[in-house]
Amino acid sequence: MSENLYHEITPEGFGIAIEKDKDLYTKQSPFQKVDVFSSRAFGNVLTLDGLMMVTERDEFFYHEMITHIPMLTHKDPKNILVIGGGDGGTVRELLKHDSVVHIDMVEIDGEVIEASKKYFPTVSSELDNPKVSVLVMDAIEFIKDKTDLYDVVLIDSTDPIGPGEGLFNEGFYNNVKKASKKGGIVVPQTEGPFAQSENMQKTYRLLRKVFKNVAPYCSVMPTYPGGYWSWGFCSDEVDIPLDYRTIDEKRALKIEKTCKIYNRKLHSAVFCVPNFVYELANG
Ligand code: SAM
Repeated sequence: MSENLYHEITPEGFGIAIEKDKDLYTKQSPFQKVDVFSSRAFGNVLTLDGLMMVTERDEFFYHEMITHIPMLTHKDPKNILVIGGGDGGTVRELLKHDSVVHIDMVEIDGEVIEASKKYFPTVSSELDNPKVSVLVMDAIEFIKDKTDLYDVVLIDSTDPIGPGEGLFNEGFYNNVKKASKKGGIVVPQTEGPFAQSENMQKTYRLLRKVFKNVAPYCSVMPTYPGGYWSWGFCSDEVDIPLDYRTIDEKRALKIEKTCKIYNRKLHSAVFCVPNFVYELANG
């Protein structure tokens, strides 16, 4: 086994290892350590404070799932807010939807954006799209004075540590809801059901205090701890999409053709979660 290994051991005491080819970039930003290395197995890899964030090979698992479930459940999503997401993958997926008029992406760390533009061109490909405003600031501050603006809000954040901690908080979720339009949908990434069950349970307790309809959906995410990830579908007015036949077939098929994971039948299937996940989200 090559001794040149990247490994992430999460606070839960287990993680992943990837054979490294070369270290490509390292920079201590005011918020976190930004590292990029190349690898035989996953292409270029971005880590923040040593924790796995994005790989060229498997980023689509995450970016398709966080984006297309809310976007195709909403009847006509025009104005979108992405919180975090500095690598640009979520913005790239959002722009597949013809209904999108404008996206605000609020990323605290400009270094992440620069590193992604340089080393992840297929992920950051749409960050200069005229429909996108990239705001480099703390989303906790940004959201405070926003009201009734967004059809869909995606919280594409780091874990609830460091700059990301304040994004897993009742006050923040209330501000996100205030910034959403009537009929709006909010989807935060809600951690790994197996690897970070405590974080996940705490997050859903907060989400359920703020939103009427809250449900986890899950998918494989190879390089995240436990290889299994969750996102939280939250809305006051829109029901959890448990029947894919309620999803507009024409819109869904157009997106499906461009995806490696998302398809219309999967749209409702992802909400069929194992008992332990259901208990974490409702306990
Ligand atoms: N989208 C990637 C993926 O494939 O899962 C990983 C998530 S993205 C890199 C997480 C981003 O959230 C980071 O770039 C981090 O700088 C940003 N972030 C953390 N706290 C933030 C805050 N308070 N405001 C805005 N952005 C924040």
